[in-house]
Amino acid sequence: MSTVFDQARQVMPGGVSSPVRAFGSVGGSPVFIQQAKAAYVTSIENRQYVDLVGSWGPALLGHAHPDVVQAVVEAAGRGLSFGAPTLGETALATLITKRVGGIDKVRFTSTGTEAVMGAVRLARGFTSRDLIIKFAGCYHGHSDALLAAAGSGVATAGLPGSAGVTAGAAHDTLVLPYNDVDALKAAFAQHGSSIAAVVTEAAAANMGIVPPLPGFNAAIRELTREHGALMIFDEVLTGFRVSSAGWWGLEGRTEGWTPDLYTFGKVTGGGLPLAALAGPAGIMDLLAPLGPVYQAGTLSGNPLAVAAGLATLKLADDTVYATVDGFANQLEAVISQRLNAASVPHRVQRAGSLLSVFWGESPASAPVLTYDDAQRQDTALFARFFHAMLDEGVLLPPSAFEAWFISAAHGDKELELLDAALTRAAASVGNGESAR
Ligand SMILES: *Cc1c(COP(=O)(O)O)cnc(C)c1O
Repeated sequence: MSTVFDQARQVMPGGVSSPVRAFGSVGGSPVFIQQAKAAYVTSIENRQYVDLVGSWGPALLGHAHPDVVQAVVEAAGRGLSFGAPTLGETALATLITKRVGGIDKVRFTSTGTEAVMGAVRLARGFTSRDLIIKFAGCYHGHSDALLAAAGSGVATAGLPGSAGVTAGAAHDTLVLPYNDVDALKAAFAQHGSSIAAVVTEAAAANMGIVPPLPGFNAAIRELTREHGALMIFDEVLTGFRVSSAGWWGLEGRTEGWTPDLYTFGKVTGGGLPLAALAGPAGIMDLLAPLGPVYQAGTLSGNPLAVAAGLATLKLADDTVYATVDGFANQLEAVISQRLNAASVPHRVQRAGSLLSVFWGESPASAPVLTYDDAQRQDTALFARFFHAMLDEGVLLPPSAFEAWFISAAHGDKELELLDAALTRAAASVGNGESAR
């Protein structure tokens, strides 16, 4: 273990501020980062890595885009936090209402966790019902009601859920298998009049990438409407990442439906703590101060975070999305070629520009549709591959259950570096026992 990690662990649980950063499932010491620029991060040992973590999503434009940094610096010059309304919030809320369908109003929070927690409370307030349906493997932040079968971080830690969540909180959450319309129909048939909301990731990306089967999200829309429940579409990860209108822009817009509530985060704050819940006025106006559903935050809508979000979303034009899509296509092809050449059993899954790799014979033999499928992968194989890539100068997310995040700053040079690294890393794990 490195000295810096030892020191960190003496004063912080696991040495980290968020569990998956601790390298628990891949072993070894985390890379401590001193700075990041475009497609690269630099460790405190001054080693540069091609970065596919992208701060777990926000870095759509690449790290430290000069225009975003300048917007933040200018905002900082005017003061760090006021606890009062600003013009920037109105501008960012307006931009969101214009990009995504079915949104009149936006409430800003600091984290995605708060946004989904607020959306759930709002749905319960609106419907006067208690039950929430979530899908196994979908992550909606670490609030009590949503921690059951919550995917990546929890899966990486090998926990079924979390200690410290009361039976009461868990009792009001029904967990169903993802992509299973029959299970959803059965749950509505049994509990229909008590269900406040179905909360789902717009495309599941926290158990690895598991795209919704065609018609799955539309079925959620139909069943919730039929039974008077709300559909909460969690776009904290997909929002403004897979298209200028998020996953809804790829699916709901063409199919002609909107959810009742959306949640956003990650790209929305461009790397600073900012998230949001959003929806039609008829629901959103139940929030305090207009309505009885309380929701608040000292730093909510922070002027620096709003400046970073506004600058990021303004820069995220069609060219950016085309660039990221194009790179994802190329990277997918290269990953498959190199892993196949070394006989490493795997499956690459995609949701728009989001991509992840499932490891081992089970995912290689059939698509991953559910959390059960995702858990049947060979995480030990990934751990060896992860360290081989790290040795080659590529920082992957240190968990087999995470997306590999691409930015608009990833180009031909980075693809070449990744190709070379993938070739050698695949060869090194392909020689191991798990090769076919
Ligand atoms: C990251 C994430 C969250 C939680 O956001 P935080 O800002 O980490 O609290 C919620 N939902 C989804 C889909 C996410 O990917």
